[in-house]
This record gives sequence, structure tokens and C-alpha cells, in this order.
Amino acid sequence: MLNIENKDKFAKVIADAIAKVELTVKDAQTKKRWVKAIAKAVAQIEANGTFMNYDTEDNHLVIWSQGSDEVYSANGVCQCEAYARGLACWHRAASRLVRIYLGLDENTAPKFSAKAKEEITYLPNTREPIRVENYGSVRLPVYN
Ligand SMILES: [Zn+2]
Repeated sequence: MLNIENKDKFAKVIADAIAKVELTVKDAQTKKRWVKAIAKAVAQIEANGTFMNYDTEDNHLVIWSQGSDEVYSANGVCQCEAYARGLACWHRAASRLVRIYLGLDENTAPKFSAKAKEEITYLPNTREPIRVENYGSVRLPVYN
């Protein structure tokens, strides 16, 4: 269960995240998607934090999605459909917000851990990204 106790600190993390997207994401469409993903992440954390847990050992956020009744685990990678299509998703936005809020270092987060890769291959239409680009500290997969 995820409980954001320090609302002021969390608000600052959110503001920083949006500012970072504004400053570092060049493509207007991608920018819009990430800002929306952050907004949805905040709403979800506030409403459904009970169904989330931050795994500090593996440095990823585990989300039980109420809408799809699926469990997502997100850091730089995710198991959702948006991620499979190379788009922004709120799971990863949420994971990043919570990680920063908890004061955990990004470098300790696995980029493409063996476990994450294994999970990705479960998706039917998943392709391997040719590389991963950093937009600030948001990682986005790039496809051919
Ligand atoms: Zn996702």
C-alpha cells in the first residue's frame, strides 16, 4: 500500500516532473502524452494508492489496475498496451513520481533487467525497442 504522507513534497515532485517534460521533450505530441500520463498518475496514486506498492529492492512500482484488473510493474519498462506501442503510460509516470518522492536514486533502477525483458515478451504485439532514450529522467523506448 502506497501512502503519500507529505503532500507538499509530492506536489513539488509533480511540478518538477511536468517542468522536466516541458523542457526536455521536443515532440509536441509526446510532450502532451507525458503531461497527461503524469496527471493520470497523480490522480491514480491519490485514489488507488491502496492498490500500489513500491518495491524498493527492485526499484519499481507495482500497480494493480482497477480498470483492467491487471497487475503492472513499471519503472523504465511496463507491461501495458501503451508501452508496447511505444507510447507514454501513466504507470511509468507514477513509478517515477513515487521513486523521486521516496528519494530513491534513478541509477539503482534496472534499465532492462532480465526479469523485465521476460515480462515484456508475454505481450502479444511486443517489439524490442532499438534503443532507449532519456527525456530528462523519463526513459522512452524507440522503435524502428
Ligand atoms: Zn504502462
